Amino acid sequence: MSKDIYVVVEQRDGLVAKVGLELIGEATKLAADLGQKVVGVLLGDKIKEKTQSLIEYGADEVVYVEDPMLAEYVTEPYAKALAAVIKECDPEIVLFGATSIGRDLAPRVASRIHTGLTADCTKLDIDVFKANEEDPGQKLLFMTRPAFGGNIMATILCKNYRPQMATVRPGVMKRLDKDTTRKGEIREIKVEFVPSDMNVVIREVVKEKHKKSDITEAKVLVSGGRGIGSPDFFGTLKELADVLGGDISSSRANVDAGWAAKDRQVGQTGKTVRPDLYLACGISGAIQHVAGMEGSECVIAINKNDTAPIFDVADVGIVGDVKVIIPKLTDALKKYKL
Ligand code: FAD
Repeated sequence: MSKDIYVVVEQRDGLVAKVGLELIGEATKLAADLGQKVVGVLLGDKIKEKTQSLIEYGADEVVYVEDPMLAEYVTEPYAKALAAVIKECDPEIVLFGATSIGRDLAPRVASRIHTGLTADCTKLDIDVFKANEEDPGQKLLFMTRPAFGGNIMATILCKNYRPQMATVRPGVMKRLDKDTTRKGEIREIKVEFVPSDMNVVIREVVKEKHKKSDITEAKVLVSGGRGIGSPDFFGTLKELADVLGGDISSSRANVDAGWAAKDRQVGQTGKTVRPDLYLACGISGAIQHVAGMEGSECVIAINKNDTAPIFDVADVGIVGDVKVIIPKLTDALKKYKL
């Protein structure tokens, strides 16, 4: 019988991806509802020493597949390894990060093992599904994601096939605090690879020279919307962000206008962020924007329209002109810091 929640934790060069740990945190809640365990899955070469960190972030057990064939991510060998883990362990649920690797691997594996996959979930719950009055019901994973251009949230079930599979975007779930006293079983699963499993040749791995800052890592985000009036004003927002030790981000309106780079975009089709402080400057608060920042610890909104929907999600609202308020705020903070 299928059981337990398996979380596929991505690693690159032995560095475990944050989203995998966030999913382990979420899986501990789902597992408590099901009365089952959380199992971390690591695939790679020479990754055994990384397995303990998954336990420290909440996994009860870890299974891993180690092979030189898995040194770099390539779809075929990774799909083979994960399909072998699923066939051997028969999990009830498998979760992936909706990263470029997760988005490639999850559908390939779902089709290989013949089950369903819900991509880009923003919410996961365990609940009882009853088809009718007589049906005793079964506990299923309720997978919620935006649909129809973000205008509705759809909850999707996988009733007849196992495992139930979902990808979740980075930053949506919260990881648990690290607990180095936690212990759990760590088990290797052997997969026999043959040369034909590697159907591409990796000639060279080229790393980005200048690592750009990542808005999902920032503790403070100063975010600009169309209300900032011109791309130059991002320079003023950057000054404030520097004083606060943070970074700048943007609504989609400015990205579409070419005022900000795509990797700065917060929202449903951008990134999901959870900073300690999110300063929304001239952002109206459209549902697709709010979907990407509502998990922020504290939201301060500056907007000249006092009925702007951003004020519904703001902890502090300032009605006024960003072009007046932001430079004053930066100057005041600079003086305060001196
Ligand atoms: P506007 O809605 O034009 O708002 C500008 C705000 O600035 C207004 O509230 C105005 O009162 C205020 N303002 C104007 N001048 C000043 C001033 N001087 N001082 C203070 N305030 C001022 N959007 C995203 O952001 N992220 C997404 O990922 C995203 N995905 C989408 C996906 C789909 C499928 C769709 C259909 C839309 C998506 N959108 C997304 C777009 C979204 O619906 C909004 O159009 C967008 O968020 C609006 O950006 P904005 O708030 O900057 O601009």
